[in-house]
Amino acid sequence: MFGLEVRLRRGWRLTRKCLLLAIGNFSQAFGGVVDENLAGKIRAEQWRSVVGHTVSMMAATMLNGAILVAALGGTADPLSLVAWTFALLSGVGLVMTRRLLARARPRPTRTSPRTIRRICRNAFIAGVTWGAAPPLFYMDASQGGKLVLTCICAGMIGGGALAFGSVPAAAVAMIAPIAGGSIWALWRSGEAETPFIIALLASYCFVLIRASMLHAFNQARQFISRTEIEQLASRDPLTGLDNIAVFRGAATEAMLRLERAGEPFALFLVDIDDLKKFNEQHGHAAGDALLVALANRMRGLARRGERIARIDGDQFAILSPGLAGEATLRACAARLAKMLGEPYEFGGVAKSISVCVGVFAAQRGVADARTVMRNAELALLKAQRKGRGSFHVFGAGDDAALLERQAMEEDLRLALARGEFHLEFQPMYRLASRKVEGFEALLRWRHPARGLVPPSVFIPIAEEHDLIEPIGGWVLRAACAAAASWPRDVRVCVNVSARQLRTRALCSQVAILLEEFGLEPDRLEIEITESVLVSDDALPLEILTELSKRGVTLALDDFGTGYSSLGYLRRLPFDRIKIDRSFVSEICEDRDSAAIVKSVIGLARDLGMEVTAEGIETVEQLECLRALDCPEVQGYLIGRPMAEDRVDACLRAGVTLAAA
Ligand code: C2E
Ligand code: MG
Ligand code: MG
Repeated sequence: MFGLEVRLRRGWRLTRKCLLLAIGNFSQAFGGVVDENLAGKIRAEQWRSVVGHTVSMMAATMLNGAILVAALGGTADPLSLVAWTFALLSGVGLVMTRRLLARARPRPTRTSPRTIRRICRNAFIAGVTWGAAPPLFYMDASQGGKLVLTCICAGMIGGGALAFGSVPAAAVAMIAPIAGGSIWALWRSGEAETPFIIALLASYCFVLIRASMLHAFNQARQFISRTEIEQLASRDPLTGLDNIAVFRGAATEAMLRLERAGEPFALFLVDIDDLKKFNEQHGHAAGDALLVALANRMRGLARRGERIARIDGDQFAILSPGLAGEATLRACAARLAKMLGEPYEFGGVAKSISVCVGVFAAQRGVADARTVMRNAELALLKAQRKGRGSFHVFGAGDDAALLERQAMEEDLRLALARGEFHLEFQPMYRLASRKVEGFEALLRWRHPARGLVPPSVFIPIAEEHDLIEPIGGWVLRAACAAAASWPRDVRVCVNVSARQLRTRALCSQVAILLEEFGLEPDRLEIEITESVLVSDDALPLEILTELSKRGVTLALDDFGTGYSSLGYLRRLPFDRIKIDRSFVSEICEDRDSAAIVKSVIGLARDLGMEVTAEGIETVEQLECLRALDCPEVQGYLIGRPMAEDRVDACLRAGVTLAAA
């Protein structure tokens, strides 16, 4: 009993939804999830489904019409038959002409309720035409003619339900007049079987209309689910903005419009300065809230037709059709940086951030969407170099720089195979023992035309284009090979980029090289910069921890230049801190620098770590460091980076270094 009640209630709920859909009330039929935009898309789907049946429906109409005229030819009033045939043929002609004309037009992605009303009107006209046949011809028809007429009317009722199945109102509009006309004619004939035939026809119509409503409901429901899934796959879940995949598609479309119609567009990249720090200070929930607030502010600032996307953790992109001209772009970028940098309120507390903006204006002839993206990225990079809250519009000078970078990238790809790399070694001097206890391996690239290219120029390019793994691998091997011939108490220090820590390959490579060259693990020191530590990825830290477990020592390079959070020191088992040259160079003149160096040395001692001061150039600096109890120094004063064959001589002279 209870089960029956539940089923009845469920049945009624479904029927109610179907009825709501039949009258075009999508929102209520689907519990409020359908807005006008989605409703328009559902209507377009319904329209497509109906239009898809047009040709077969018209063919059936012509065939049935011809059969009916043949069957009634001898009995029906000729004038009525001609008039009816004319009406039928006019209808078919009109529909087919419109269909042919519409073929050239693009299929609509959204349609208005008016289109659906037009479909219902056409269905009604078809229904009335067929519904007029029984009252006009049934009474006078022969027995055979009556049978043909009844069969054809029943067939047209079925055909109407099928053709207009996606639009139940249209199905009703067609079925009702045919059923009405048939019932009326049957009733008037007064034949004994009439009540049975009428009951049969009524139940037949009821079943067909119900099937049409259910079909339309399921079709719309499937469409809504499909749209939801598509939206999920194309949206950034946090901010609800487009994601990078969709944005790339939009950029490609904009490129096509540019090529075909010359419509310019600009690409703005917005990057939050130091979101990492914001997260650390206020927590990740506040960071998320900030991203949402920033996204909303961007939506508010957007002009019509602009596409906004979140393309990376802290990076947003705006595609602006129609924007061109350096002055306009500069004004827009400045406004964007200013507005997005205004304080954000969280629970009554205002919090400030700043953003950098890079802009690229796409013009005809730019190769592809990838180039557009890369130029905008380059502009953003330039903005970031200018400082927090800055913007940069990609200009002619940047083009030249980009071309040069591309040329260098190509040369860099060939450099390994052509043997253009070599290493130099810079001594590291221990003040207490007055001995050179290690050498830092520094990569050099001698290009036949470019000459000696500094690592500060080519390492970032190698990192950007995934060339650093093979190059870094070469450095590691060459450094280990060199160290194999040095005394056992002299270590070799190798710089490793964050990019080399994206796969575990480094661990196995280190193990193989130590074995191959018979090096004690603690004679190899890996130098990394703080940028590795601030990444959210756990893998680099795992790799470095594993290396440390194997006995390889770890040094934190350029300490003080990066994010400078001492908290990071605890994340890895560092053996050494290398204080950046910028502090050492001012140690004698600047009290703050001296204080920082002093506290880093103290902290390292407390944590059981070694310290190396980088970039010692003068005797005064060395004396200051000695006074601060700095254990190890490195710099031009001790020795410049040197060729491998000079290492031996340096080791022998190490104890007698003049300054020491
Ligand atoms: P770094 O690891 O901090 O290396 C020290 C840099 O400071 C070297 O520059 C060195 O020549 C320079 N230097 C040493 N003493 C002094 C001094 O007294 N005064 C001055 N003004 N400079 C001094 P270099 O060789 O141009 O290397 C620059 C950076 O390039 C390195 O900084 C390192 O981050 C990177 N690098 C070099 N070789 C490699 C490598 O094989 N792999 C990776 N990933 N990066 C490398
Ligand atoms: Mg280094
Ligand atoms: Mg350094």
